[in-house]
Amino acid sequence: MDLGLNGRIAIVVAASKGLGLAVATELSREGAEVAICARNADRLQSATGAIRSATGRTAYFEAFDVTDQARVGQFVAAVEKQFGRVDICVTNAGGPPAKPFMDVTIEQWRTAVDTTLMSAVYFAREVLPRMQKNNWGRLLTITSNSVKQPLDNMVLSNSIRAAVTGMARTLANEFGHYGITVNNICPGYTKTDRLGELADTRAASSGETRDQVFARMAAMNPTGRLGTPEEFAAAVAFLVSERASFINGVSLTVDGGMVRSIM
Ligand code: NAP
Repeated sequence: MDLGLNGRIAIVVAASKGLGLAVATELSREGAEVAICARNADRLQSATGAIRSATGRTAYFEAFDVTDQARVGQFVAAVEKQFGRVDICVTNAGGPPAKPFMDVTIEQWRTAVDTTLMSAVYFAREVLPRMQKNNWGRLLTITSNSVKQPLDNMVLSNSIRAAVTGMARTLANEFGHYGITVNNICPGYTKTDRLGELADTRAASSGETRDQVFARMAAMNPTGRLGTPEEFAAAVAFLVSERASFINGVSLTVDGGMVRSIM
C-alpha cells in the first residue's frame, strides 16, 4: 500500500530518541520532509544523522523545551517557512515521573501539566490554522495506554494524558470538516530509554533487577514481549497518512493487547 506520505511536511515533537525518533525515521523513509525538536542539541544532531543513514533524507531540527510556548511558535513558523506548509504534527514529550499520589509534589503536577498537556495545546494552536488553509492535516497525540487502563504508581500519566485525549477527541470534532484528522496513539511497554528509567524506578522499590522488571512488563500483554519503537512508528505512519483519511477521533493502543477492554 502506498501511504501517500511522499512530499508531506511532518513535525515530530520530542524526537531525538525513543518513540519520537522512530516515528521521524519512519515518516522520512516514506518520503516525508521531517522536522524534529528536543532539548539537547547534540542528541538532535545525532538523531538527524541516524535518520539520514536510515533513509537518505535530511531532517530539520531545533533544540528547545516544549513547555516554552514562544519557542513552539517560532519552530512551527520556521518549518512552514522552510517547507512551505505543515501537513502533519505528531505531539510528544518526555514522560512524567512514576510515583504514588502522596509522593507527587504540587510542583511536579504543574511541570507535568506544562510538559504533557500544555505542549500539545501549544502545537495544536500553531499547526491547526496552517492545516486549515490547505484543507488537509493530520494531528496525532502520543499518550499512553494509561488513558484506557490506569497504571499503578503513575498518577501523573493516568491523569494528565486523559486531558490530552479529551482535547484530541474534541479537536477531531471541530476540525474534521477541514480535511484534518485528529487522533491519539497509546503506546504500551516499548523498549526505549524511558522504559529503562521506569524499570529502574520499579527495581529500586521491589528489589528486582531491571531485566526482571522488563520480563514482568512483557508478561502483562498476551504477546509476552515488549514492543519495539519501529512497531509503534509503523502504526503512526498509517494514522497520519493519506490512507487513514476516514479515521478520526480514535485512541489506538499499540500495546500487544495489554489493555483488556473489549473496545
Ligand atoms: P524517551 O526515550 O525518554 O525520549 C523522550 C524524548 O523526548 C527525547 O527525545 C527527549 O529529548 C524529548 N524530550 C523530553 N522532554 C522534553 C521537553 N520538555 N521538551 C522537548 N523535548 C523533550 O521516551 P519514549 O519512550 O520515546 O516516550 C515518549 C513518550 O511516550 C513519553 O511521554 C513516555 O512517557 C510515553 N510512553 C512511553 C512508553 C514506553 O514504553 N516507551 C509507554 C507509554 C508511554 P531531550 O531530553 O533532549 O529533550
